[in-house]
Amino acid sequence: MLLLVKSETLIPNVKDALVRLGLEHTVARNGGNDIAFEISVDSSALAPQRIAQELSAFGAIYHQRSRTPLLDALPDDFAVEVSAPGGVKVMFGGNHPSVLIAGPCALEEPERLELTAAYLRTMGARVLRGGAVKPRTSPHDFQGVGRAGFRWLAEAAHRHGMACVSEALSEDDVPEALEYLDLIQVGARNMQNFSLLRKLGQGRRPVLLKRSPGSTLREWALAAEHLLSQGNNRVIFCERGVRGLERELRYTLDLAGAAWMQERFRLPMVIDPSHATGSKQIIPRCARAAVAMGFSGVMLEVHPEPSAALSDALQALSFEEAAPLKQLFQQ
Ligand code: PEP
Ligand code: MN
Repeated sequence: MLLLVKSETLIPNVKDALVRLGLEHTVARNGGNDIAFEISVDSSALAPQRIAQELSAFGAIYHQRSRTPLLDALPDDFAVEVSAPGGVKVMFGGNHPSVLIAGPCALEEPERLELTAAYLRTMGARVLRGGAVKPRTSPHDFQGVGRAGFRWLAEAAHRHGMACVSEALSEDDVPEALEYLDLIQVGARNMQNFSLLRKLGQGRRPVLLKRSPGSTLREWALAAEHLLSQGNNRVIFCERGVRGLERELRYTLDLAGAAWMQERFRLPMVIDPSHATGSKQIIPRCARAAVAMGFSGVMLEVHPEPSAALSDALQALSFEEAAPLKQLFQQ
């Protein structure tokens, strides 16, 4: 980005403004009487358009076209509404309080789900989660109850005044996901499945876009840009941990990266400490941190009998273990 300052006397003011905005800059003389500032925007949490707006009083600004023009055009107070039958409206982002999304990793059978839904509602959960078609690392592990689960997840959630979210694992799942789910999850392994993104971008349902553990923040943003490019801007990011050098926990929860994404791109951000840590001892603290940092929501795996869970048993919180987190979320 290049800023041509109107007059040399403005330079101290420009410098102050650049420091206030947290922008790296170097002064480069541009011949003649014009003074040019070269501004590096790579390390900035601000959209180029926003910088141009902030600095427009000082002179002419030239910036390269952003790779995320659709995300950049979202307003500062952008929020995503997830609605469900019975007048349920759950707001993510803007100035809305942090939302609790909770439920089992995988749907197992309707009676247990009913018990879980009833409990989670008393805990302040607004969205019930549960995987029906599961992306499992091993083909020998439980693969989920199949798409039939979308319907009973929705029924349980709606009976208790909640919205529901589940993952569409492939394009084949999309028609039924659109029919039954209030929020459709793109799992970490599918973040760059562009044909799935295209299909969900054409559907009129909000999408929870998880971060791939091996992706950069820019790649994650560009995946969201794919959804927006098809006409769907009801996108919520979900940070669920990246693959770092550490092996004591399942992944590394990138709270700073998530904060940067929320500053830079405005889309709401949900934090999933269950998959990020894989450890029930650590999950409650990370959930508290996420709420304290002002993220739009927290997603937790909760199971009535964690030791019997058919997937992700080690990270499932029992009702008793989840209970102290109730105070973080408004009812
Ligand atoms: C999930 O939330 O059910 C899940 C499989 O998570 P992830 O895609 O983040 O691994
Ligand atoms: Mn899980």
